[in-house]
Amino acid sequence: MRLTFYGGAQEVGRVCMLLEEGPKNLMLDCGIKLGETTEYPLIHEDELLRIRNISVSHAHLDHSGYLPHVYSKKARPKIFMTKPTRDLIGVLLSDYQRIQAAKHEGKKLFGSKDVDDVMRDARIIEYLEPFQADFKVQFHSAGHIMGSAMTMIENGPKKILFSGDICMRKTRVLDPCERGLSAETLIVENTYGTKEDILPSYRESYQKMISIIKETVDKGGHIIIPSFAVGRAQEVLLALDDYMRSGAIPPMKIFMDGMIGKAMKIYRHNAIYANDDIKKRILMSEDDPFKSPNFHHPRSKTREDVLKEPCIIVTTSGMLSGGPVLFYLEKLAHDPRNAIIFVGYQAEGTTGNKVLQNEKKIQIYGKEVELKLRIESIRLSGHADFNELIQYIRSVKGLKRVFLMHGEKSELKDSIDKDYDVIVPRQLETYAI
Ligand SMILES: [Zn+2]
Ligand SMILES: [Zn+2]
Repeated sequence: MRLTFYGGAQEVGRVCMLLEEGPKNLMLDCGIKLGETTEYPLIHEDELLRIRNISVSHAHLDHSGYLPHVYSKKARPKIFMTKPTRDLIGVLLSDYQRIQAAKHEGKKLFGSKDVDDVMRDARIIEYLEPFQADFKVQFHSAGHIMGSAMTMIENGPKKILFSGDICMRKTRVLDPCERGLSAETLIVENTYGTKEDILPSYRESYQKMISIIKETVDKGGHIIIPSFAVGRAQEVLLALDDYMRSGAIPPMKIFMDGMIGKAMKIYRHNAIYANDDIKKRILMSEDDPFKSPNFHHPRSKTREDVLKEPCIIVTTSGMLSGGPVLFYLEKLAHDPRNAIIFVGYQAEGTTGNKVLQNEKKIQIYGKEVELKLRIESIRLSGHADFNELIQYIRSVKGLKRVFLMHGEKSELKDSIDKDYDVIVPRQLETYAI
């Protein structure tokens, strides 16, 4: 079998690999890399027409965003994903379509029809339900966001496991990823691939968040929490709601803005994929955590109600690359009583990363904005950290070969390469497995 990396090698973003044997092929993820400019998988248009199958590990655009491009080139591979992934990509791809149409006026790269067609054609696969995609394939739960999957590919005696993005901890909403699977080859993310990437416990991180919120509200300030629409936002919102109910943080409005509300609804519709705590709360007590009375949406486009009094604003985009968070920053950044709390990964080159590196002036809608508000970051990742990745890799039975991808630096290699054949792949390189 041959494995080619069209993206996601030594970078976080545009995950896209092709697994093939003779005429049989399966593309593993089909993502883009969003930043100041959008980067696409390094696959030639003509080659797309020979792709027969695509499996999608989860809805984040760095794993799914290239699907409508594939459709716009008239390729019609079979596409496989879980139900929450299908529902969530509907929101994310439509938003991406609007943004790119505005950017590339006149010569848009794909249309809303391509998004609709992807949604219509996607084949829904349950966890543990075997399916044929030239090879025998099965999804296992990955714990990263709702519907996220690890992909097990079987070809005769060969077993290849692609982790997708994984989380090893139980979160507010989800159970951790499945462990102890058997595979000879593992293709694993290493977003947190350096020795410094050891994350504190969620409890520690939330304690820090609670104190920042209390101190800010005491001064009469607003708290901005930039977040990805899907995944971190739901975790953070449910945690904030819990802490408010228990009295750990004072009562105030928690606003959600951007696509977070839509993603929240999809999480609610797919609550069967949540962990038992959430299911019990919904089924047995009619206490629906997704519809808490503490949650609010801005009442108008001017968002005056949000700016009026101290409150918490959870909004997109997570890395300050667009979305309503820029509106709030423009309005609130000048006042040192306010605070911004980062909760997610900030990729190199993004505005979020620059702010964390202490840059005090940023451009918003072509205007320079000085940041006088308090800037904090807590580590609440949906990814396995350095130590957890080692544990995960060691939990795979019969493992011989490890590809470390979806990471900027892979120091992880040094920790495991006495036990396995470890490869840090390069873009456009093909490996025999
Ligand atoms: Zn992800
Ligand atoms: Zn990812």
